[in-house]
Amino acid sequence: MMKNETLHIVGLSGGKDSTATLLIAIDRLGKENVRAVFADTGNENPETYAYLEYLEQVLGISVVRLKPDFSEEITKKRLFIARDRRRGRDKRGDKIRWSNKAKRRALAVLQPTGNPFLDLCLLKGRFPTNRARFCTEWLKRDTFVEYVDSVIQQEGRPVVVVWQGIRRDESDKRKNAKKIERMARGYYNFRPIVDWTVEDVFRCIASHGLEPNPLYATLGRVGCAPCIYATKGDVRLLAASSPARIERVRDWEHLVGQASKKGFAAFFQGKELAGTKPGEVSNLVFWERHQIDGILHWAAKEGRFFAGDWEEDEENTESSGPRCGSEMGLCE
Ligand code: SF4
Repeated sequence: MMKNETLHIVGLSGGKDSTATLLIAIDRLGKENVRAVFADTGNENPETYAYLEYLEQVLGISVVRLKPDFSEEITKKRLFIARDRRRGRDKRGDKIRWSNKAKRRALAVLQPTGNPFLDLCLLKGRFPTNRARFCTEWLKRDTFVEYVDSVIQQEGRPVVVVWQGIRRDESDKRKNAKKIERMARGYYNFRPIVDWTVEDVFRCIASHGLEPNPLYATLGRVGCAPCIYATKGDVRLLAASSPARIERVRDWEHLVGQASKKGFAAFFQGKELAGTKPGEVSNLVFWERHQIDGILHWAAKEGRFFAGDWEEDEENTESSGPRCGSEMGLCE
């Protein structure tokens, strides 16, 4: 049935910008007319889950939590691997076809686990990198867009406005971001803080009597635990504060490696990390240096993290290196 009201959706990441955006939306429209939506990667910091609960409690709202499910894609991938009889070699001279040994190994672990981040990496047979940042796309952007689309289809709203916590001074990529943008008939993106500074954002949160996500006091940003863009300092902090997370990365690397054709995977696969690039050293040495124990060793050594250690694809003016920065403001 067609409803007359415009639906206002705020993409919430648990970070400062989307929180300020939510506060403005509630101020202008009333909490009953605003829907806060959070896309859960399954690899969020515990502080972020707690912060969402805090916002719900103090604002008297209920946050919609989306969790992507890759079961169908995993079933298709299993069939593809099992039936793979391709011929020929890739540009590196490796056989394209999955060997019988790799098939057996992958099929033994390629099952949905219910954790979106892990399931996506199992499906891809690798972890994301800056050049292949499929985590942001599949876990945040696509999940959110599918939700908005389903709302338009199922709730029959004539107009949907998506409020995005994006600021022009965050990065070069965002410097021309518009305040309002028509995406399709009846579907608009609205960015109320597009010309704000970071100080404006924290001021807005404080003026509402709220605290920002406590991660700003430790990591300085909000994102996955860990994020593929973790700096040396982030890795050190995680190792000291949460050995269970490090253990989980170790387990995930094993599983994803088993599900891959190569038999190896590394969470921090950024090509120029840990002092080496693929092709410069043997595969075994590359994986050993880039899997979590090699990264812990690298992170423990003196020396700064340089932004160039990542295959940087965008200039950031707010932090020392690249970061998640979904173009919809769904993660920071
Ligand atoms: S870029 Fe980092 S914070 Fe963003 S989804 Fe990927 S791992 Fe998570």
